[in-house]
Amino acid sequence: MLALQLEGKVFKRLTVIKRLENTIQGQSRWLCQCSCGNTTNTVGAKLTSGKTVSCGCLGLENATKAKVKHGDAPFRKEHPKLYRIWCAMRNRCSNPNRSNYQYYGGKGVTVCPEWHDYAAFKTWALANGYADDLEIDRIDSGGDYSPDNCQWITGFENKSRAHRRA
Ligand SMILES: [Zn+2]
Repeated sequence: MLALQLEGKVFKRLTVIKRLENTIQGQSRWLCQCSCGNTTNTVGAKLTSGKTVSCGCLGLENATKAKVKHGDAPFRKEHPKLYRIWCAMRNRCSNPNRSNYQYYGGKGVTVCPEWHDYAAFKTWALANGYADDLEIDRIDSGGDYSPDNCQWITGFENKSRAHRRA
């Protein structure tokens, strides 16, 4: 098989970042950055044949185009709840007008710089067990929102943790 060299090449929305381990079938696999902010990996043949042209957002967009509200970025719609969690997290740390700011930003809790980028937050969330029925929890409740201090837990666990803290 020809050794493909795809690094840096652009296939519609995808820019190839680097080669990953081959698939078990021996096909070359590539890590790609999608223009929507997601990263994805796909086999080289799908890229060169034009079968894969986005992380999946393009198909999703085409399928739901009729419903798209003006100004909606496609990546927000993939995980609308995760996007709301991200907005709420940033608000309670930085918006003094929010009722719960006093418990977060008001106590010096911040969102780490990396997570001011929604794509970075989402990548972390999906790699660390995010599901729509889970809530973000700071392991050290005095610490910041950052990859090494956060985990996904159920609302029930979250309430019992809050109870223990009180
Ligand atoms: Zn995408």
